Amino acid sequence: TRLKAKSEGKLAKQICKVVLDHFDKQYSKELGESWNTVRNILITPSLWQYAILLNRFNYPFELEKDLHLKGYHPLFQGSLSYYPNSMKCYLSQTPSRMPSEKHQVGNLKKYFLLNAASLLPVLALEFHDGEKVLDLCAAPGGKSVALLQCAYPGYLHCNEYDSLRLRWLKETLESFIPHPLINVIKVSGLDGREMGDAQPERFDKVLVDAPCSNDRSWLFSSDSHKAAWRIHQRKNLPVLQVELLKSAIKALRPGGLLVYSTCTLSKAENQDVISEVLNSCSNIVPVDITGVARTCSKDFTFAPTGQDCGLLVIPGEGKAWGPMYVAKLKKIM
Ligand code: SAM
Repeated sequence: TRLKAKSEGKLAKQICKVVLDHFDKQYSKELGESWNTVRNILITPSLWQYAILLNRFNYPFELEKDLHLKGYHPLFQGSLSYYPNSMKCYLSQTPSRMPSEKHQVGNLKKYFLLNAASLLPVLALEFHDGEKVLDLCAAPGGKSVALLQCAYPGYLHCNEYDSLRLRWLKETLESFIPHPLINVIKVSGLDGREMGDAQPERFDKVLVDAPCSNDRSWLFSSDSHKAAWRIHQRKNLPVLQVELLKSAIKALRPGGLLVYSTCTLSKAENQDVISEVLNSCSNIVPVDITGVARTCSKDFTFAPTGQDCGLLVIPGEGKAWGPMYVAKLKKIM
């Protein structure tokens, strides 16, 4: 059975009931009362918001003026100590969506539409000029583009295992990043689980934006058999996530920082994965980022953190960002 989403668009998206029932069971336990609000936003595309990340390599000054006039405001106005001046992202208070830009050969795109919460893992990396960075699961490339708004890497390695998505990643990079900079970016199609052995201790910073149950898009699966199969396979994701993290830890130099992120609310893929890695790897310690929940509460809603060292952004009223889980780890030897 399929339910019609509360959408104003002509082609209203259909909600996949198998997925919704499964989420209702799991998330009402894990999130309690908050699940009602989160659920309402996730199933109502007309409430979704899109942030606008301006491309510093083809800066749209006119558009920026226009956004101010339309009442958009910059994200993290002074609230995050490691927010680089070079990154400009605008939010509107009301649900709205600018058209996506068409790719034009020889012209870099001026802006990127994104879920504002996806900037949190990028910022948590505290990426500085000259550093060697690995984006282990990089397609379609949103976080790689965001990383390059923060600083100029000494070396950036963007990896993606899926060959179709690898093509998409390359296209994204070519649409936003100028040629001289593309030359310091390596793009590869390895299984991320092998990266640690292939490039041990090579990187100052590693981002593991892991394959996960993508709650927002799963709810709109158009094929309910495929959706049921995904739900059945879902329990295997934490194994892959732990293996990717262990490989990322190997690829990180001692003293380096690693950020793990997912776009699911699922505790099994978030907090439990981080606990498993902390329990089994003695060379890694958690970096507490829960303070960010206080400083960013104007723009984001966070789930209560409890014992977790990570953060979970949950969609809230007028702040429809997330789901996005972020945890930060440091390699000590
Ligand atoms: N970081 C991306 C961005 O911001 O645009 C989104 C990444 S998405 C959440 C996770 C990606 O991991 C998917 O593109 C998926 O194909 C890829 N993936 C799945 N298994 C992988 C593996 N073993 N090694 C590397 N990448 C993998």
